[in-house]
Amino acid sequence: RAKEQGKRRYHLFTPAMNERAMRRLLLEGDLHRALAAGDITAHYQPRVDLNTGLITGMEALARWTRADGTQEHPAEFIPSAEATGLIVPLGEHMLRLACARTRALLDAGHADLHVAVNLSVHQFRHPNLVGMVADVLAATGLPPSLLELEITESTIVTDTDHTIRKLNQLAEMGIALSVDDFGTGYSSLYQLKNLPLTSLKIDRSFISDIPDDPNDAAIAATIITMADRLGLRVVAEGVETPEQLNFLLLEGCHEVQGFLFSRPLPPDDFTALLARGRRLTVPRDEGGGI
Ligand code: C2E
Ligand code: MG
Ligand code: MG
Ligand code: MG
Repeated sequence: RAKEQGKRRYHLFTPAMNERAMRRLLLEGDLHRALAAGDITAHYQPRVDLNTGLITGMEALARWTRADGTQEHPAEFIPSAEATGLIVPLGEHMLRLACARTRALLDAGHADLHVAVNLSVHQFRHPNLVGMVADVLAATGLPPSLLELEITESTIVTDTDHTIRKLNQLAEMGIALSVDDFGTGYSSLYQLKNLPLTSLKIDRSFISDIPDDPNDAAIAATIITMADRLGLRVVAEGVETPEQLNFLLLEGCHEVQGFLFSRPLPPDDFTALLARGRRLTVPRDEGGGI
C-alpha cells in the first residue's frame, strides 16, 4: 500500500510541476521580501465620466519593480500572492498606499476624487477585513465615500452569507462596492439584486472586439442597460480605441477606463496628469474627443 502510494506520488510529481512549484516558491520568498522592502507600489489609472468628460477618480494597481529594475507582472504575482496568503498583507499595503495618496491629492485641491482598490476573495476570509479597512481610513483620513472596493464574481459566489455580511458592513460605512471583470464569472442576477453594490465594471474581454463583434456588442450593450436599470453605475474597462468609446457613448455607458485615455501611471505622473486638469480628451487624430 505504502509502496503503491509512493509510486503514485512519484508519478504525480512530474518535472514540469517541480519547476512550477520551484518558481512559485522562489516568487513567494521574493514577494515576501519585496513587500517588506517597499518594492510593491501602486500605479494609478484614471476613470473618466462620459457625461462630463472629467476624471472621476482612479484605480490603484499593484506594481513590483525588482532592485535590478525588472518588473514582475500582476497577472503572475497576484495569483502567487493569493496561493500563499501573502495577498492579505499585500492588499492592506495597497489600500494604505491608495488611501494616503488620494488624501494627499484632495489636500492639494483635487476635490471629490474617488479611488478604487482591488480586493481579493482571500481577504474576505480574513476575520478582520472590515476592521482593517476602517483602520486604514482612520489613519489616512480618507472619507469612506471616496473609497471604492472592487470585488470579483468569485467573491460573490464564495461563502455567500459571510460575504454578504461583510459587504453590508463595508457599505454601511459609506464605501462604494463594484464588481470587477463583470461577465466572466458565475454570479447570479439574484445576487446582484441583493448585494449593496454601486457599480459593475464590464470585463475587458467584452470591450476589445466591439463594435465589430456583434456578440460582444450585444453583451456590452445588455450589461449597460441592465446596470442602468438596476441603478448601478457601469464602467467599461480596457477601452483602447475611439470606435469602442463611441459605441459605449451611444449605449449610455457611464464611465470608462483604458489605454485610450491613459495607462496606469506612477504616482507622480498621475499627479502631473491631474495638474493639467480634470478633462481628459482623446487626441483629435484618433477620432475626436468627448
Ligand atoms: P483589474 O483589476 O481588472 O485591472 C485592470 C487591468 O487592465 C490592469 O492590469 C490594467 O493595467 C489593464 N488595463 C487597463 N486599461 C487597459 C487597456 O486599455 N488595454 C489593456 N490591454 N489593458 C488595460 P494589471 O495592472 O496588469 O493588473 C491585472 C490584474 O491584477 C487586475 O485586473 C487585478 O485583478 C489584479 N491586481 C492588480 N493590482 C491588484 C491589487 O492591489 N490587489 C488585488 N487583489 N489584485 C490586483
Ligand atoms: Mg480592478
Ligand atoms: Mg477588471
Ligand atoms: Mg481582474
